[in-house]
Amino acid sequence: MNCIFCNIPPEAYVVENTHFFAIKDRAPVTKGHALIISKRHFQTFFEVSPEEILYLREIVLLLKAALDDEFQPEGFNLGMNCGRHAGQTIFHFHLHIIPRYADDNPDEKTGGLREYIQDIL
Ligand code: 5GP
Ligand code: ZN
Repeated sequence: MNCIFCNIPPEAYVVENTHFFAIKDRAPVTKGHALIISKRHFQTFFEVSPEEILYLREIVLLLKAALDDEFQPEGFNLGMNCGRHAGQTIFHFHLHIIPRYADDNPDEKTGGLREYIQDIL
């Protein structure tokens, strides 16, 4: 299939389980920014099956442990752009896992994702 995320080579996987794998984002917004990607091709979270949701939880925890080990972040943003009008550019399920650090927010802004969205609208 002509889909970038259907064609990621297994050598790029940071962690994987039966239904998902994680890779480093090619344009990280913070140190360690990674994507959890489904092995099955579908577009958004709303199509995750009851079986897959259990594996999604597992791989989020596996990836968090790997990122904690490598980068020691102080927080995380987890984000999904579901649909073109929500900012999705690759129409294959992926969950952004964005490590956050005490010094990446010098203005001490509050609100996380909510504030970023308000900033661009
Ligand atoms: P979206 O805007 O669809 O939520 O995010 C797509 C993400 O995939 C972006 O953060 C982008 O940097 C990342 N990305 C796009 N193509 C590739 C690729 O070929 N390899 C990797 N590792 N990341 C990609
Ligand atoms: Zn795909």
